[in-house]
Amino acid sequence: MTEYVRYSVVIPVFNEEAVIQETYQRLKQVMNRTDSSYELLFVNDGSRDHTAAILQGISETDERVKLINFSRNFGHQIAITAGMDYANGDAVVVIDADLQDPPELILEMIAKWKEGYDVVYAKRTKRKGETFFKKQTAHLFYRILQASTDIAIPVDTGDFRLMDRKVCDEMSRLTEKNRFVRGLVSWVGFRQTAVEYVRDERAAGETKYPLKKMLKLSMDGITSFSIKPLKLATYLGGMLSISGLAYLVVIIYLKLFTENAVAGWNGIAIMQLFFSGFILIILGLVGEYIGRIYDESKGRPLYIVRDCYGMKKKERRIKR
Ligand code: UDP
Ligand code: MG
Repeated sequence: MTEYVRYSVVIPVFNEEAVIQETYQRLKQVMNRTDSSYELLFVNDGSRDHTAAILQGISETDERVKLINFSRNFGHQIAITAGMDYANGDAVVVIDADLQDPPELILEMIAKWKEGYDVVYAKRTKRKGETFFKKQTAHLFYRILQASTDIAIPVDTGDFRLMDRKVCDEMSRLTEKNRFVRGLVSWVGFRQTAVEYVRDERAAGETKYPLKKMLKLSMDGITSFSIKPLKLATYLGGMLSISGLAYLVVIIYLKLFTENAVAGWNGIAIMQLFFSGFILIILGLVGEYIGRIYDESKGRPLYIVRDCYGMKKKERRIKR
């Protein structure tokens, strides 16, 4: 049997050597104030710097610190998922490693959990120190997501949240590969509530979310929870066909009843370009969904663990 822990804190880390020591200190201070047992579960997502060595060192001095090393970089969402798979606590908190999410808020989350909520998510009222571009695209993304999905995924909410044991267990049953964790948590249901906070600047280091990863995350978010983009193709196609028909009527009318012959192939060339572009975009969109079906059908595991530190052998329960 593994030792009883009340709280698990899951921290995905990717090349965070600049900040990880400070994160550990802050988390430790906050969690000590809960007067309950806890574990800090770091998931090292294939870092190429000294993150793993630093964390391994910490885990040797503090038995509440556990470390899972992935065999390579699998991505933020997968790292969170692994942490939740391994967590032992009655309540599990997911938090970024860069201190943009203030650890002190965990105490507020715990208070809400004790009131009987199963999921307490942290909603950003403001974001400090992020680029205008990031803020605007994030704002837009959450609105598009909200408009296109049928389940209510809270806006301006990242992965910083507390989940009850039963929510975590349900999450571990979901096998999908291109994961959008915050959407899945909404999908799972239970009693959910929010605490609000101002998102700080990164304490040190640089963002590990370049535009490419942001785009993938937003595509995963929308395609995992909505097929509206596919329907959009049908509607737009229908509208275009109708306008094409109307135009045909106009041309026939002009030919039969007026002197104005319809001239030139320029118009045709432009329309040809426009509509072939349009068709390719829609085809790409269909491809996004097919690609995801392909990913699911391969049945590969979500992640591969290289090794673990600070854990007893029995705790290493690979569920996936
Ligand atoms: N992260 C990760 N794998 C990745 C990218 C990021 O585990 O491939 C972690 C990163 O270490 C951090 C969290 O995910 O703890 C959020 O990343 P970041 O702060 O760089 O994103 P941002 O806040 O800029 O959106
Ligand atoms: Mg960050």
